Amino acid sequence: YVSQSQDFDFFYFVQQWPGSYCDTKQSCCYPNTGKPAANFGIHGLWPNYENGSYPSNCDPSNSFNQAKISDLISNMQKNWPSLACPSSNSIQFWTHEWEKHGTCSESVLSQHGYFDTALSLKGKTNLLEALTSAGINPDGNSYSLVNIKNAIKGAIGYTPWIECNVDASGNSQLYQIYLCVDNFGSDLIECPVFPKGKCGLEIEFPSF
Ligand code: 5GP
Ligand code: 5GP
Ligand code: 5GP
Repeated sequence: YVSQSQDFDFFYFVQQWPGSYCDTKQSCCYPNTGKPAANFGIHGLWPNYENGSYPSNCDPSNSFNQAKISDLISNMQKNWPSLACPSSNSIQFWTHEWEKHGTCSESVLSQHGYFDTALSLKGKTNLLEALTSAGINPDGNSYSLVNIKNAIKGAIGYTPWIECNVDASGNSQLYQIYLCVDNFGSDLIECPVFPKGKCGLEIEFPSF
């Protein structure tokens, strides 16, 4: 019997608010499929260890192959659009996410399974609905971090982690929301460890 270290312990499922990706000094570019809907988009599904570290770029031989996910492309363009410049069809973003993160969960999820799992998690976690039901709207106003977290915990059942970035005037704003998922990609779980990084007590929720 040879003990083997585990591939990874859980996933972070990370969604980004497009208004906050764009409302920065650097700005953004819409994909060539057009301006995405004013909704959270997927950033990635990231294998992680319980000690807070994470594996990356685990299998250079398993490169991104669009043909393996052809049935998912239109759903991905809606729910996983790239806002980086220059404008693109988002393929580079998905390639990066697969090669950096997805290859580290290849023992449990095929390439198709990885993207399909992320899309299905997105379908199960309507963050915008959770926030707007609590009166937290993408209207450029500021909201308390605690109220944002409680609205999501109340609607989804699990404690999120909020990542902030800063707009061109230096205001802290709601950029990304992290939820944790078991290492099969099946169910949300309470996060074994939270990421690091500061938000203000009150953060802006910009429009998109
Ligand atoms: P940043 O340094 O901007 O927070 O993150 C840059 C990139 O590092 C992210 O897009 C992601 O690929 C990776 N990353 C950052 N923090 C974490 C983390 O806590 N877990 C994992 N798995 N990846 C992370
Ligand atoms: P990470 O390493 O943080 O997982 O992924 C970020 C990489 O994907 C960066 O190289 C970034 O330029 C690229 N990227 C392309 N489109 C997007 C997008 O819409 N949002 C984010 N956060 N990164 C994007
Ligand atoms: P507590 O554990 O008391 O909720 O928070 C400890 C510290 O972490 C406080 O400074 C609080 O503002 C910060 N914090 C709590 N939750 C989050 C979050 O989701 N995102 C970020 N960036 N900071 C948080």
